[in-house]
Amino acid sequence: MNNTSSGQYPLFDICINLDNVQFDIDRADILERASNHGVTHLSMTGSSLKSSRFAIEWAEKNPNRFCTTAGIHPHDAQSATPAVMEEIEKLLHHPLVRAVGECGLDYNRNFSPKEAQLSCFKAHIELSEKHQLPLFLHQRDAHDDFLDCLSSSTQRAVVHCFTDTKEALFSYLDRGWYIGITGWICDPKRGASLRDIVQHIPLNRIMVETDAPWLFPKDIRPKPKKRRNEPMYLPHIVDVIAQCMNHSIQEVKHHSFVNSCSFFGMREPQK
Ligand SMILES: [Zn+2]
Repeated sequence: MNNTSSGQYPLFDICINLDNVQFDIDRADILERASNHGVTHLSMTGSSLKSSRFAIEWAEKNPNRFCTTAGIHPHDAQSATPAVMEEIEKLLHHPLVRAVGECGLDYNRNFSPKEAQLSCFKAHIELSEKHQLPLFLHQRDAHDDFLDCLSSSTQRAVVHCFTDTKEALFSYLDRGWYIGITGWICDPKRGASLRDIVQHIPLNRIMVETDAPWLFPKDIRPKPKKRRNEPMYLPHIVDVIAQCMNHSIQEVKHHSFVNSCSFFGMREPQK
């Protein structure tokens, strides 16, 4: 196994929250820097009606490299009125919207009450069935309810920003889902258990992501002035993932890219 040279394999960042205010000053530069660092493909995550529309607008600038999701984050579940969900459903007809979400359950901070989160999540699952689109999932401290809601879903899914236990990991893999790994794994303290268990993710199920501007990879040296995450840091995150998975960097790059292209329906670039 050669783990030293990253090579020029392209990368697919499956989660950037492009609408975030932290990107207001240099959004176009960030996309250019991503591409200069080999992050050729991006899925721009919709986590509210506004951000889902915003993502589409930006993805349209380069439809060969960019796609989006459309949905309401569990933090905002309270805002998911029937009227809002109707608007989300309209967006699912857009050719660049490739997954329903980000949706799921987050009992870590309960920004929206549990009941609102559950009904919002179920509405997304129904939409994914109805429109035959895969699910872009978020789960924190809500594993049991999360699995329960999805018990009869047959859609393809990726559990993005996976940070849970080995047991949770295996139950998602058993369902045939993909697993998204972020720079959480680079966090010296809270990334420790994730570093131990990523080796259990088969190469045909791994996806990689920044979740930018969140989850700046804390072990980057030299430390940049701004601790704002952006896709150009994805190669660093992948180096750490590869090391923990005991695979070469090239293997992780290649497989995560192929998995993501297949999931999001993006054509792989011609060699
Ligand atoms: Zn998330």
